[in-house]
Amino acid sequence: MELVKRSFIRACKNHSYLSYQMIDEILTPLCDAHKVRKPTSKEAIKAFVGEINDSINNLGQTLDFIKYNIRGEEYLVYSKTDATPDTVANTGLTAEECQYFSKLLDRIASEEDCRIPWNAAYSEHFLHTSSKPLKKSRMQQLLQKWCNMGYFQEIDESIYLGPRSLVELSFYLSSNHSDYIKNCTLCKGLVMWDIRCSSCQIQFHRECIHKYLQKRDICPSCSNLWTTPLRKSTGAS
Ligand SMILES: [Zn+2]
Ligand SMILES: [Zn+2]
Repeated sequence: MELVKRSFIRACKNHSYLSYQMIDEILTPLCDAHKVRKPTSKEAIKAFVGEINDSINNLGQTLDFIKYNIRGEEYLVYSKTDATPDTVANTGLTAEECQYFSKLLDRIASEEDCRIPWNAAYSEHFLHTSSKPLKKSRMQQLLQKWCNMGYFQEIDESIYLGPRSLVELSFYLSSNHSDYIKNCTLCKGLVMWDIRCSSCQIQFHRECIHKYLQKRDICPSCSNLWTTPLRKSTGAS
């Protein structure tokens, strides 16, 4: 099993973020090759990941599951525990290119719903802020790379904060962009693109509020009657 775990960590590093389907596609040949039983249920996969975390957490690395509502997926995200916007994207990049990452992150995080139109990612705002402005083609290349790494996501012509940013930079984001980036008061985890109370507009995780409303019928935040339908809607809320 140790070899399977080591190969799995390598795959997590390469992909940055994995859906359950991708996890299965990685584990199937690995477990076959090493003749071990594959964890198949979500619970078994979470337990398997928990064991990996026991051995990598002290190396400053972690694997975390995050519900990425905008795609309606749950992802397993690889991240470094000491990362900051200045260090995440820096391997082999110039100071201007690193700065572009930080500025883009801050720009998206300071918008309601944490998204910007895709063309705003290449706007003048970014081109004229450093001494050596980046070429648009280079910005496109970098943004593509950061989307592949899960730091941003391009969905329906908008650029959103990606699953990896939400995990790896959650502390930075919630402390520097508290206007739109909030923690769910029920579980304390980051909450985004999820369900809102129709009275006070406070956001909760659908699962958290669902559980809470089994015993009560009021909003935990404003104490008004909860009226927002709990069923899943598609797309942004
Ligand atoms: Zn919650
Ligand atoms: Zn409320």
